Amino acid sequence: MTRKILVTSALPYANGAIHLGHLVEYIQTDIWVRFQKMRGHECWYVCADDTHGTPIMLRAEKEGITPEALIQRVHGEHFRDFSGFQVGFDNYYSTHSDETRACANDIYGKLKAAGLIETRTIEQFYDPVKQMFLPDRFIKGECPKCHAKDQYGDNCEACGAAYAPTDLIEPYSAVSGAKPELRNSEHYFFKLSDPRCESFLRKYTSRDNGVLQPEAANKMQEWLGEPGENKLTDWDISRDAPYFGFEIPGAQGKYFYVWLDAPIGYMGSFRNLCGKKGLDFDEYFKPDSQAELYHFIGKDILYFHALFWPAELAHAGYRTPTKIFAHGFLTVDGAKMSKSRGTFITAESYLNTGLNPEWLRYYYAAKLSATMEDIDLNLEDFVARVNSDLVGKYVNIASRSAGFIAKRFNGQLAPAQADLPAIRAIQEAAERIAELYEAREFGKAMREVMLLTDAANQYVDSVKPWELAKQEGKEVELHAACTNALNLFRLLTVLLKPILPAVTAKVEKFFNIAPLGWADAQTLLAAGHAINPYEHLMTRIDPKLIEKLVDANKESLAPAPEQHSQQRHAEHQQKEVQAAAAETAYCTIDDFGKVDLRIAKIVDASHVEGADKLIRLQLDIGEEKPRQVFAGIKSAYDPATLVGRLTVMVANLAPRKMKFGLSEGMVLAASDPEGKTGGLYILSPDAGAQPGMRVK
Ligand SMILES: [Zn+2]
Repeated sequence: MTRKILVTSALPYANGAIHLGHLVEYIQTDIWVRFQKMRGHECWYVCADDTHGTPIMLRAEKEGITPEALIQRVHGEHFRDFSGFQVGFDNYYSTHSDETRACANDIYGKLKAAGLIETRTIEQFYDPVKQMFLPDRFIKGECPKCHAKDQYGDNCEACGAAYAPTDLIEPYSAVSGAKPELRNSEHYFFKLSDPRCESFLRKYTSRDNGVLQPEAANKMQEWLGEPGENKLTDWDISRDAPYFGFEIPGAQGKYFYVWLDAPIGYMGSFRNLCGKKGLDFDEYFKPDSQAELYHFIGKDILYFHALFWPAELAHAGYRTPTKIFAHGFLTVDGAKMSKSRGTFITAESYLNTGLNPEWLRYYYAAKLSATMEDIDLNLEDFVARVNSDLVGKYVNIASRSAGFIAKRFNGQLAPAQADLPAIRAIQEAAERIAELYEAREFGKAMREVMLLTDAANQYVDSVKPWELAKQEGKEVELHAACTNALNLFRLLTVLLKPILPAVTAKVEKFFNIAPLGWADAQTLLAAGHAINPYEHLMTRIDPKLIEKLVDANKESLAPAPEQHSQQRHAEHQQKEVQAAAAETAYCTIDDFGKVDLRIAKIVDASHVEGADKLIRLQLDIGEEKPRQVFAGIKSAYDPATLVGRLTVMVANLAPRKMKFGLSEGMVLAASDPEGKTGGLYILSPDAGAQPGMRVK
């Protein structure tokens, strides 16, 4: 039976480069899709860039271009990177499209008609300078619990406390630096707490229903609570202008929140594909559709895909997803990807370093399972495994036998030995391996394939074509041995094709055959079949390339929109984090140049009457007379010990009038940001520095 299957991967946000963490998902999905196509099913793989939201708007503004120009450029970059890794989308579209807008308006209209949309006035921080409402992640301030400075509006990175932005001490806008004001605004909500949604979700997400992996179904039960408990809260789906997105029909100045139109982007992309290919959209999305719909996602966005999205679809008159496949995160060498270690590796840098994308596809496949567990890219193991499995075992079968067929037998094969145990073993295992692919147990499938590859190599080792070739009168044996070896190689290629599409294309050309389908695992090449000259299929990984890759990523620290979030950690937050980081984490060299830092000699230091924390310093920076600076370092220093020391001061800080006199600058001191140790440490230059020298 031919199945109709629609498959998606999560939409990458159009504000940052694709990295190896993203690729876990796209490679996993692509392998599964390629497998389905090899089985002869009608399978479509759609995706798109996720293009809306405040971060896109602000980044475009910063670059001095329109959001449309920004998302178009990033779309090109993403598509280039995915293509480079052989991710074979049938359509790679954009959420900023007529199709997605039409689907969003349609779903919204139907939910509204069903009484599942409600407006409510909420109080939210507003940036009076930038004239916009601020998402939580664009508000910073002092943590109300531990008093760490510069913490985000929703949680503290120093102590981990979660709170509302209104709890922050001295909040400021990460966009303009202005003090935000609380203002009222009318927002639109999807009523997830409605009993209809709750009862639907209880059934839909239950373990018995099988839509979710068991561990994901358990998570849902936590979120849903006990029957009658109704723990679901309504979902705020609107944002106020200025916003880059779709305006809500009938609500001027209100836009759909980026997370509303993101999953709808799957539909938009598919609708676009239907237009190109003449497919029937309704056949895939009508409520009683017999087509299958699968979403591959990271475990961090389960909430959006397993609660909001199916509840929206079910109550807007559409089918719901057949299954939702969540995967874990990528670690590199057992740790989170890190820019300082050079393990935050972009797709582009991997390809530019000259590494073969199919090495990574194979390595990921060998590690992937159907669970939500994280997978580790161990760089040493990566080199060893690829060199051993793909080059040492798989390619080796062909490279040891192909040459003799060309040189000695005019490129023509002898009859294959159908009852050869190594051939029989592959043919018997093919269905079992197909089941493993279907179940996304790629790691188990690769273990089976490598056992079969070992058996094929044992056959070649036992017949030794290179020795037969040297002996007189062994032509028939040599021809048979090489033919069998090449048939084994072809069968193994069938089993590896979903993972190695580019190598497979070369193999198909070498064998002079039509593209391999899964059923070809049961056939052998006919006697007399002519093959083409063998060309090199794959090289070993040179470990130096890995060093080069890590170095390249250590250097690419400059524009780093993903500073705070290497994975798609709660993507809506990340989107905001990225922009916030872009806004605040870096200053340009010009910004830095504005600060006039000077070597200063402390010529006098004294207590300040009536001040608990301050010491009055007289600082010589080579000017006519010393500067007076009040420094809050009394807890750590006895004034007498400071006289005569050199330190560093900010010389062009605006003078500040204090109760005790004018402060004409600032000395630099180090302290624990959480203030736990209470220690303060003023800076000292190395010997030789003179008062007045510029520090830069
Ligand atoms: Zn804190």
